[in-house]
Amino acid sequence: MSIQNNLQAVKEQINNRALLVAVSKTKPNEDLMEAYNAGQRVFGENKVQELTAKHETLPKDIEWHMIGHLQSNKVKYIAPFVSLIHGVDSEKLLKTINKEGKKNDRKIPCLLQVHIAEEETKFGFSESELLTMLNDELLSTLEFVEIKGVMGMATYTDNTDQIRKEFASLKQTFDKLKKSVFASNDNFTEISMGMSGDYLLAIEEGSTMVRVGSSIFGARNYH
Ligand SMILES: *Cc1c(COP(=O)(O)O)cnc(C)c1O
Repeated sequence: MSIQNNLQAVKEQINNRALLVAVSKTKPNEDLMEAYNAGQRVFGENKVQELTAKHETLPKDIEWHMIGHLQSNKVKYIAPFVSLIHGVDSEKLLKTINKEGKKNDRKIPCLLQVHIAEEETKFGFSESELLTMLNDELLSTLEFVEIKGVMGMATYTDNTDQIRKEFASLKQTFDKLKKSVFASNDNFTEISMGMSGDYLLAIEEGSTMVRVGSSIFGARNYH
């Protein structure tokens, strides 16, 4: 199967129910261009250096999403152009993104990462941490950040019941924030959940944005 055919198959499955972020990490520019030529414009990367290098060399109408863990000291490299930062997982990072947004005179779109997996290793806030952190005082200082929703990663497991429960819990957290902290914010609309193995499940549970890599570009080789 070619990248173009894979992309077409994934899009047919999604059937316009969620935005498709094509996760192109570790893949060469030629692979991204194959997806681009088939109409894909939204790409996700998880390393700042790779993201900026690809942004510099590939067509300017690509929307670049930072989907990986982001260190505060690297925000400055992507602040001028990034379309969405998926994994905001600390107050410090929010404040840094705000500072870099101000320098670039733009509001930087972000998602708050919520810890939904059983595994300790995945980053993110708990729901109660978010409710405590997102007070009026903090929100009023974040003039150059646009908080557009939440993002989560399910446990790496074959147990679909567990994955479904974790996605449902992210949807619940989204709904709770939408009703409270973001009640008067029309931009708080996005739930980023679902990858190659579970994006249909994620859409059933309310995902608005799926991050799909290997089903489009094939398995990754890290060596
Ligand atoms: C790599 C990655 C994906 C895509 O994973 P696939 O299983 O290849 O679809 C999605 N989200 C994040 C955060 C990733 O790092």
